[in-house]
Amino acid sequence: MNEPIHVIGHKNPDTDSVCSAIGYAFLRNALGDTEVRPARAGSLNPETRHVLERFSLPEPDLLTNATDRRLILVDHNEIAQALDDIRHGTVLEVWEHHRIGDLQIPSPITFHCEPVGATATLIAEQFFLHDIEPPPAIAGALLAAILSDTLVLASPTTSNKDRRMAPRLAAFASVDVAEFGAELMAARGDIASRSARDLVESDFKAFTFSGNRVGIAQVEVPDTRHLVARHEELLAVMEQIRAAQNLRLVILLGTDIARKGSHLWAVGDRRDVVEHAFQCQLSAEGAFLEGCMSRKKQIVPVLEAAFAAMA
Ligand code: MN
Ligand code: MN
Repeated sequence: MNEPIHVIGHKNPDTDSVCSAIGYAFLRNALGDTEVRPARAGSLNPETRHVLERFSLPEPDLLTNATDRRLILVDHNEIAQALDDIRHGTVLEVWEHHRIGDLQIPSPITFHCEPVGATATLIAEQFFLHDIEPPPAIAGALLAAILSDTLVLASPTTSNKDRRMAPRLAAFASVDVAEFGAELMAARGDIASRSARDLVESDFKAFTFSGNRVGIAQVEVPDTRHLVARHEELLAVMEQIRAAQNLRLVILLGTDIARKGSHLWAVGDRRDVVEHAFQCQLSAEGAFLEGCMSRKKQIVPVLEAAFAAMA
């Protein structure tokens, strides 16, 4: 038997990375490509674990290297977020909803990127375009991914396509969108029981802005008071990660779902760029950015422009 083709999301996988991989592998299998399998690039977070248990879905294969593998990427297309040796693997397709990254692929491939709230929205659309009914577990997993990435359709990244796909999937999964969304947010666990390192690392992504390597972590919580109370601990962990990974800057975005905004903290030697970019003062309690809920849409492009302007 041939080596399988793995569908894989980014490192520090979230529910969208894991469930889009599961959903897309299922679709390809249903279309007759039996060698396609879901994979993950790291351990599962509590929310994703809850989703897989709830729908009795097996954990995707853990991949730690890409060398000599055939891969379909979902939910990422930047080298810093992919398996470390991604350049030594063969990327066959990309399904994405982030900015076009720096991964250069030598042969022509399917590269599907749309500014929607979740990769799972694009995967769900493919089921419907191919007239394949998602089984309840697959529909539930894809719906979970959409609700997770869009904070239950409340994030400014939410598109009309997300709003159309969510109820269609909910019907196949026999769940109520609002109830299931609340269940998912609760499954993220309470902040008090998580270590500062876990809070910073579980959704941590690295970017390169005009040659500056910057790490941006995000924690989305019902309310950020507990994060603010633990800022010293969080800043210490951010500084350790910054030094260990030799990053110019590490940013933590503590997104307050109720207030619809985010606390922002930063460590490193270019905090001035952050203050300039967001017109804020970084204090120990962090700056609060009103209306800012999306790293992808409201943080990354602003920082990219700010670093470019200073280069
Ligand atoms: Mn993701
Ligand atoms: Mn996503």
